[in-house]
Amino acid sequence: MKIAVLKETAAGETRCAAIPETVKKFTTLGAEVAVERGAGEAASVADTEFETAGATIGSRSDVLKGADAILCVTGPEPASLKGARKDALLAGALDPARRRDVIDGYAKAGLEALAMEWMPRITRAQSMDILSSQSNLAGYKAVVEAADTFGRAFPMMMTAAGTISPAKVFVMGVGVAGLQAIATAKRLGAQVSATDVRSATREQILSLGAKPIFVESVAGIEGEGTGGYATEMSAEYQKAQAELVSGHIAKQDIVITTALIPGKPAPRLIRDAQLATMRPGSVVVDMAADAGGNVEGTIAGKNVEKHGVTIIGAGNLARSLPADASALFARNLYNFLSAFWDADKKAVVLPDDDEIVQGVRLTRGGKVVNERLAAA
Ligand code: NAD
Repeated sequence: MKIAVLKETAAGETRCAAIPETVKKFTTLGAEVAVERGAGEAASVADTEFETAGATIGSRSDVLKGADAILCVTGPEPASLKGARKDALLAGALDPARRRDVIDGYAKAGLEALAMEWMPRITRAQSMDILSSQSNLAGYKAVVEAADTFGRAFPMMMTAAGTISPAKVFVMGVGVAGLQAIATAKRLGAQVSATDVRSATREQILSLGAKPIFVESVAGIEGEGTGGYATEMSAEYQKAQAELVSGHIAKQDIVITTALIPGKPAPRLIRDAQLATMRPGSVVVDMAADAGGNVEGTIAGKNVEKHGVTIIGAGNLARSLPADASALFARNLYNFLSAFWDADKKAVVLPDDDEIVQGVRLTRGGKVVNERLAAA
């Protein structure tokens, strides 16, 4: 089996779908790995390191020639994949919900497109979950960016010239990114509070030494919800949440919002009038900016100032940590493909009746085959 690793071409993409460690593991399995020249450059991995790990280096057409599988981070344009075998696998973050035309293009090209972000949230697939691995790094980076923008220090400092009080950080949405944001803000010495609609997060907030701030008058989502995901809340809940936020936010220096609802625009958690109650110099990092934003006035990829408060419309923050983000992404891909490695055929064999395969497989045999896409 020949595996091609592409150099990313999407604007702003810094990550690479392989690292020398995963190249070595693939070759140990019996695969041949071809890496496009310069693929690891932005992630601080030199071509020579890939070579040492057992890969060959070449141009895009060299690596695609006769490839059985193509690994990428951001889904490439279908026209740029000529030369691969007709039914080759294409695995990466293909963004099927927003790039339907590109997915149709993969089908037309005969490729078997596998969207890693649609990995089912089951225990067996945890090590293959790119959403978790990238959100974790993004949650860390959101706090570092907030600290960099904030004109005050995070930890309490008792100095001869007087005491500096600790920064107050409020994290809204306690999924993978939110949990890492809480942990990072705690490490920097901030006083941290956090909220979510899923009641299961209360314990997690407490276990990180932060203060849970929850709507008490209306029931939230009990248990893990649908696969750990939140749903849209009732008007009654939203009203109670807005009141809770209004009371809390004026006392905060930093707010990190991470709330997402799959398949829906991000829920609006902070209104302009609420921002106006914050102290000038406060910082809000809206990690949901790409999905429409949790904060009124957010612009994705930009910093804007409203009422003296800086709103950071965070884009894909994992891209700003390319070395670590690539390492985790590459391992997610390796864990996925190696789980379906057939030692006799020396190739990846994806069984039709497997829950993981059904989740990620978008196209096959010239058609779009994923139920979620068919429904859309
Ligand atoms: P996410 O990115 O979809 O959303 C981020 C957080 O925002 C969630 O915690 C969500 O409940 C919260 N949220 C949504 N609407 C909100 C609102 N109106 N107000 C406040 N908060 C709101 O979530 P995620 O980071 O992908 O993780 C969600 C859960 O799934 C976690 O419990 C995580 O541990 C679990 N998970 C399990 C697996 C697995 O088992 N393989 C993999 C990944 C995540």
